[in-house]
Amino acid sequence: MSDSTLTETVGSDTVEQAREQAAAADRVIVKAGTNSLTDDDSRLDRVKLDKLVSDIMDLRSRGKEVLLVSSGAVGAGKGMLNSAEIETGTLEESQALSTVGQSHLMRHYTQSFDRYDQTVAQILLTEHDLTNPERFTNVRNTIETLFDWGIVPIINENDAIATEEIQIGDNDMLSASVAIGMDVDLLVTLTDVDGVYTGNPKHDPDAELIEAVEANYDAVQSLVDESTTAEFGGIRTKVEGARDASEHGMPAIIAGSQEPDVLERIATGKSAGTIFVPINGATDD
Ligand code: GLU
Repeated sequence: MSDSTLTETVGSDTVEQAREQAAAADRVIVKAGTNSLTDDDSRLDRVKLDKLVSDIMDLRSRGKEVLLVSSGAVGAGKGMLNSAEIETGTLEESQALSTVGQSHLMRHYTQSFDRYDQTVAQILLTEHDLTNPERFTNVRNTIETLFDWGIVPIINENDAIATEEIQIGDNDMLSASVAIGMDVDLLVTLTDVDGVYTGNPKHDPDAELIEAVEANYDAVQSLVDESTTAEFGGIRTKVEGARDASEHGMPAIIAGSQEPDVLERIATGKSAGTIFVPINGATDD
């Protein structure tokens, strides 16, 4: 498959319109992965976290409601405990690490948002909470109330109790499910790669950014399916989550967490990462 099949198939008007729709969003979910929050030793990186918080506050200052889906609990837990002295390989050990890291993560978020007098709230979810309608209604009502109060909810999976049968799996799917269930207007997935590329930009200098995904979705899907997770830094679930959201009529953007003013760029209709064009009632078949 030639790279142009992937990179040049979405018309510029369509891309422009999707960016305008993203900029106009009143309710936004921002998802940040572990790599966007921790350093090479898995320690929480306060500079990265503060940048994310100031990017989110840019959206808040524009009057938008923002919900943050944040990973980093297991990573922060690893960073806090001396992993030379403690075993961290089993599922139970990862779950225990998440409980150490989650409160540490929230402490940093609370301090960082305090710089702007912005109150935050923590919500930990499992698969049951997304699939059981009564439980999801409760989640939804809580989030609506927090939005009414001007609070930024911060969601993570409840790793301590999420074993296989009740595990969401990853926060890419969690953020897409919450975006769809909460009728948000925009899903932004922030990652250490600046969007979806035709190869891994960390290793392949010829890798090109795919600016927009619409009719080229199948080509993009096969590209990421063919690539191993390690090679693409977990991009597959991000692509699937963004696609799910765009199929529910909202634009979804995968962009670099380290890109300067990344959320402001999105809020002002500028290019950032890869945009998944919303599919408004149209079917693919
Ligand atoms: N819930 C996990 C954590 O906080 C992360 C899962 C994910 O990155 O998708 O460490």
